[in-house]
Amino acid sequence: MMSKVLTVVGGGLAGTEAAWQAANRGVKVQLYEMRPESSTGAHTGGFLAELVCSNSLGSKLADRASGVLKDEMRKLGSLLIACADANAVPAGNALAVDREAFAKMVTDRIENHSNIEVVRSEKRTIPSGVTIIASGPLSSASICDSLSSLLGTDHLYFYDAISPIVYADTIDMSVAFEASRYQKNGDTNGDYINCPMNNAEYDRFVKALLEADRIPLRDFEKDIESGVRAGAHRFFEGCLPIEILAERGHDALAYGPMRPVGIYSPYDDKRPYAVVQLRRDNLAGTLYNIVGFQTNLKWPEQKEVLRMIPGLGQARFARYGMMHRNTFLNAPTVLNESLQSVVRPNLFFAGQITGVEGYAGNIATGLLAGINVTKLMNDEGLLVLPRTSMMGALCHYVANADSDTFQPMKANFGLFPALEPPRDKRKWSKRERYRLYSERALNAIENLKVRMKLDPL
Ligand SMILES: Cc1cc2nc3c(=O)[nH]c(=O)nc-3n(C[C@H](O)[C@H](O)[C@H](O)COP(=O)(O)OP(=O)(O)OC[C@H]3O[C@@H](n4cnc5c(N)ncnc54)[C@H](O)[C@@H]3O)c2cc1C
Repeated sequence: MMSKVLTVVGGGLAGTEAAWQAANRGVKVQLYEMRPESSTGAHTGGFLAELVCSNSLGSKLADRASGVLKDEMRKLGSLLIACADANAVPAGNALAVDREAFAKMVTDRIENHSNIEVVRSEKRTIPSGVTIIASGPLSSASICDSLSSLLGTDHLYFYDAISPIVYADTIDMSVAFEASRYQKNGDTNGDYINCPMNNAEYDRFVKALLEADRIPLRDFEKDIESGVRAGAHRFFEGCLPIEILAERGHDALAYGPMRPVGIYSPYDDKRPYAVVQLRRDNLAGTLYNIVGFQTNLKWPEQKEVLRMIPGLGQARFARYGMMHRNTFLNAPTVLNESLQSVVRPNLFFAGQITGVEGYAGNIATGLLAGINVTKLMNDEGLLVLPRTSMMGALCHYVANADSDTFQPMKANFGLFPALEPPRDKRKWSKRERYRLYSERALNAIENLKVRMKLDPL
């Protein structure tokens, strides 16, 4: 083992997990956390690993994506999942925690680890030695400037307005149809699904959209909206929320993301008045995102309004649209699946900044970055997790998604490679499929653990 020190920037969910994993493998760690002196605007105290919003780390069920993810992390000895289990509060099928007790336990374990020094100070520039950046969605301005200088401003985003994602098997294909814009004969390949609207349906949709409740922005997010209204924010004008576009005029959507040009319905050979396009979101074709439909509507209202779209009447949503301040990399251009920077081999990233969403996913990236940094310091090959595991599928997504349309993603089964079909040629039921995904994922992690001797020292 080299006697180098690892610097971790950010003592949130990912940073503490990463520090713990490396420290437990014998690495000396300096963990920088700027709170309580400087705040992010969303955190309220000085504990490490503070949960900024909900106190739930997602489903506990073994056959749910988030449940599988946490089971994988238990197998790999995650500190934060152990602390979450120890501080769980009753919440049905979810792993919810007493947030204060959880954060306090993580803080105590980290502060009392003989290999970890916690430095309560903002790290304003990227250190030159072995480093993990885990400064989160609300990274301080100075570290963002430093990241922009290293990676280029085009590869770092500060705001996020994301479109909803729908499960393909819940789209009514007797109403919707496959077609690409301006398609030639035989051009259809399932990359796009179109939901056609007539004039009256469009009117009703726009009215409902304008009347629906939006999620209130917090103080640190207000500049998003002022930027949008002034048309000033260069990161944001390109992906305006649909409700804000609709405010610009009745036909703004019909000339924008719902423009029908080049699309003809196979049912009547006519061009619809407006079209909602859904684009394939994963190779397996099980998920489709609604193109250009970034939105900040409250989730129940979002479901109601989006289900007014012909063909989406029974749609189930893998992810709702959202808008919030969110610092994240264009990971496919700057990261590999080991969470290592492609421009500087001794620089790793973990947490929301990698484009993985959700508490559990952020902890998972911390776990992997902590292991990989140790491997780098020991001159060993870096670990790439199997794609059939939830952790591996998430890391594969951030490193390999389309860089032009990259958006953060949380754990979901749509990221998994398809299962072999059953021998009798019938289709797996959803329940069977989820159980098999889950078994396959945990076996993959178990095998990897044995093969790579991944138990902490
Ligand atoms: C407002 C908001 C609400 C969210 N709510 C949820 C939710 O309910 N459920 C969910 O699953 N996910 C939620 N997320 C998404 C995400 O899961 C959490 O933000 C999660 O905490 C991210 O983990 P992280 O480790 O990447 O960042 P964080 O947990 O935020 O940790 C980053 C740490 O870095 C510190 N820091 C920043 N810059 C510096 C610097 N230059 N030097 C030193 N320290 C620095 C910060 O103070 C912070 O402690 C939310 C995100 C936001 C922004």
